[in-house]
Formats: sequence, structure tokens, C-alpha cells
Amino acid sequence: MKIENGEFVMPGDKLGIIEQYLPGDGTYENEGDIESTVLGNVIINPKMKTISVKPKSGSPATLEVGDRIYGQITDIKPQRVNVKIDRLEKTKRDLALPYMGSIHISKVKNGYLDKISDAVRIGDIIKAEVVKITGDNVDLSTVEEDCGVVKAMCTRCREYMTTTGKKSELQCKRCNKKEKRKISNEYVNI
Ligand SMILES: [Zn+2]
Repeated sequence: MKIENGEFVMPGDKLGIIEQYLPGDGTYENEGDIESTVLGNVIINPKMKTISVKPKSGSPATLEVGDRIYGQITDIKPQRVNVKIDRLEKTKRDLALPYMGSIHISKVKNGYLDKISDAVRIGDIIKAEVVKITGDNVDLSTVEEDCGVVKAMCTRCREYMTTTGKKSELQCKRCNKKEKRKISNEYVNI
């Protein structure tokens, strides 16, 4: 069996042996063999003696700890909010499946937060960091500066709100209602 440059491979396919190549991205070594970890096309660099696999574009993106995601608040409980995770920042691609994540009240912002609804509301679009993955449970955090609410609508009239210059305050463009949020420094004023 000889793998050619550009060949389409599946996860677990044998690509070669470590005497031939250095295992690159999308590959791993298994008892002297180099195998693919992804579905994609083989890239052999004869000069560097490396072999890697470029994931097929459009193949499902998966979440990893440290990833930044964008999602929407779907549910608020006293200690936790649920988030529908829509996309990964690093790939700019939608995830294959809608993942659900959640943020514990202690991971919403630095310092004490009396009520979660002083930081996020249902329907808010947030940016968050993946801090833990346990089976299907994805724990998120919005503590970092770039994380938090990036787009929010007024709870009274559903118009988009804009930043006011105060750290945790948004204001409705239509009815002027002021609301509290944990605001990302990437908040989108539209
Ligand atoms: Zn309003």
C-alpha cells in the first residue's frame, strides 16, 4: 500500500510508517504507523519528509477546551444559563450539530454577581470560552475581556441596544431603557 499526495483518507487509515515520514497535522503515530485522525486529503512534503491530512472543508468542526464560540442564551436559571452554541471563532464555520453549553454564575464575570440576569438575558448573542467538556456537557466562561454579550435586544421593545460608555450598561436605541450586561469588548453597535 502506498499513499499518494492528495489521496482521500478516513480517520484511522494507515498513511505510512515513521521511518518514511514525520507525522504532521491531522495524523498520529500508532506503534510505528502513521494514521489519519480526520477525513480529508493527504499532503506529502517530500523536502521536509512530513505527511499530514488537510480536513475536508465542510467536515464537522468539533469543540476543544480554549476555543472561543458564539452562541445565544436560551434559558436562565438562578445558578446557570444555557447557551445554544452556533459557531466557532477559529473556523468561522457553523458547527455540524447545534451544541448546547452552559455558564455557571461564577464564570460569567470577575467578582461577585448577585443575579445572572444582571449580566445576560434570554436571546442575547454572546462570545464565550470553552473551559471544560465532559461528555455532552460544555462549560463556558465569559470572564475574559473579549467574552460576554456581543449583541443584545431591549427586553421591553426588542430593539437592539448600544453601549453607553459605562462598563456594564447598554441602552435601547428606541425606548432609551438602560439594562445591565457583562459586555464583551467586541460588542457590536448597530
Ligand atoms: Zn427598548
